[in-house]
Amino acid sequence: MMLTPTHHFRDLERKPEYLQPEKCVPPPAPGPAGAMWFIRDGCGIICAIVTWFLVLYAEFVVLLVMLIPSRDYVYSVINGIVFNALAFLALASHCRAMLTDPAVPKGNATKEFIESLQLKPGQVVYKCPKCCSIKPDRAHHCSVCKRCIRKMDHHCPWVNNCVGENNQKYFVLFTMYIALISLHALIMVGFHFLHCFEEDWAKCSSFSPPTTVILLILLCFEALLFLIFTSVMFGTQVHSICTDETGIEQLKKEERRWAKKTKWMNMKAVFGHPFSLGWASPFATPDHGKADPYQYVV
Ligand SMILES: [Zn+2]
Ligand SMILES: [Zn+2]
Repeated sequence: MMLTPTHHFRDLERKPEYLQPEKCVPPPAPGPAGAMWFIRDGCGIICAIVTWFLVLYAEFVVLLVMLIPSRDYVYSVINGIVFNALAFLALASHCRAMLTDPAVPKGNATKEFIESLQLKPGQVVYKCPKCCSIKPDRAHHCSVCKRCIRKMDHHCPWVNNCVGENNQKYFVLFTMYIALISLHALIMVGFHFLHCFEEDWAKCSSFSPPTTVILLILLCFEALLFLIFTSVMFGTQVHSICTDETGIEQLKKEERRWAKKTKWMNMKAVFGHPFSLGWASPFATPDHGKADPYQYVV
């Protein structure tokens, strides 16, 4: 089998192997239809719980320390609605990023399946020796998920899942909404401090002045840290979507083997066709287009 020079840039996992389909036992009978995808990784589960806890802490301070005690009813209602809507969208995006299956079907490297593909002579398929699946181009094996991930970008413990083709939209929305609630919380903390300095401290919160200051400063640190972290992540993700190069491919400086498309087409491939309000909704499942799921290297 002749290898083209591009193969030298591949990682070891992608070296063509003998497919040895007889070594792959067919996967155990699939679980109940639609069994939920959830990675049982201690570190990831703790990080995901911490994420929820931090959002709930921000909710607590924004509502109980700042908005409810405020006497400006209109200010409280408008900011309360905006903050809660953004927090709800952030947590919904988090759930969808965590519970969406980004993997390639497991254990499909069986003799029957390979025969059913009707490969042309000279066409090469790659088998993952770790999870016995046929690896489409640009898929990588994740050691935490123990599966091959379609167009894997990175494994993110904060959403306790891999970020790949199937859930990248939810991950990008998650970083965007967290950045927005952080910015909104920072602005509200700023206004609240100004308000408290002008007025009597005892009147600007239902908590004692020292408790109020500590709660607000903690929220300020949290919001600032997450604003920086998630907006950098959001920018990196949008850049990698526009250039159609995953985090792994950028790190490995892989040579481009796939067709170059416009930035707008690349965005539509991730967020869905055509452009609509659904791009901002974690509940709208993007239509990735009817591309052949198995793109083999010829
Ligand atoms: Zn694998
Ligand atoms: Zn993973």
